[in-house]
Amino acid sequence: MPIYEYKCLKCDEQFEALVFGDDNVSCPNCKGDKLERLMSACGFKSSGDFTPSTGSSSCSGCTSTNCSTCH
Ligand SMILES: [Zn+2]
Repeated sequence: MPIYEYKCLKCDEQFEALVFGDDNVSCPNCKGDKLERLMSACGFKSSGDFTPSTGSSSCSGCTSTNCSTCH
């Protein structure tokens, strides 16, 4: 499910909203529909631009970046 971050141009409220294909999103603060879509942080993470702090770069089994001994 895509989560987009919006900024309301009317009251400057920033919020995240799930979008299912259409753009029927309104501001939870003032109910306005003059919104600016911001880059979603979740979208950046899923695209692989970020290196996870835990996971592929280190091994929990051998506390080494080279897992040839335990994998
Ligand atoms: Zn608003």
